[in-house]
Amino acid sequence: MSTLGSQHHVAITRDATVDWMNRFAGEMSEHRAELVALDTAIGDGDHGTNMNRGMTKALEKLGAAEQADPGAVLKTVAMALVSSVGGAAGPLYGTLFLQMGGALAGQGEVDLDAYAGAWRKGLEGVQARGKAEPGDKTMVDALIPAVQALEAASDLQTGLRAAAQAAEEGMKATTPLIARKGRASYLGERSKDHQDPGATSTYYLFKTAAEALAG
Ligand SMILES: [Mg+2]
Repeated sequence: MSTLGSQHHVAITRDATVDWMNRFAGEMSEHRAELVALDTAIGDGDHGTNMNRGMTKALEKLGAAEQADPGAVLKTVAMALVSSVGGAAGPLYGTLFLQMGGALAGQGEVDLDAYAGAWRKGLEGVQARGKAEPGDKTMVDALIPAVQALEAASDLQTGLRAAAQAAEEGMKATTPLIARKGRASYLGERSKDHQDPGATSTYYLFKTAAEALAG
């Protein structure tokens, strides 16, 4: 990827990654009530509150010290989420950002290959932690198609846009599913006809990535 002279040759910087996290925190604040409503329908109703609190804490940590590179930004966010968010979301998003940050360690500029590779590591971490498979009605249902879209892309801008679209489609596709993981699985058939809150917050993560990182 990032062929020399390519028209869309851009790389992800530290500042762009901070911008991404700022935008994601903004979405978690703006859509807090929506995420609470989705989680109230099939869970314990804390997802919006948890993600908003966690990302508020993450922005505090990002502002308190200068991170050297994109990987360090994501690790800082991971630690903030793990320490401030209970339930399933803290450990799962913490794992996602920690794995991504580790994959990008020491890289000042991140190209499409490295970025897609970091997402793949993050996805593997989330699945190892949560044991969710595709179709279980979890954040994995938005993550997998988005990561695959990034891996299939030939340039970063196109990949970021395709990933956001794939995450949105994956999110919407959770609505008719019967939950097989997490609290929603206790509802069985009654978990149908509700969009998964974790897949929804994951869509916002890819949406803001496309906004912040496309150069
Ligand atoms: Mg919950």
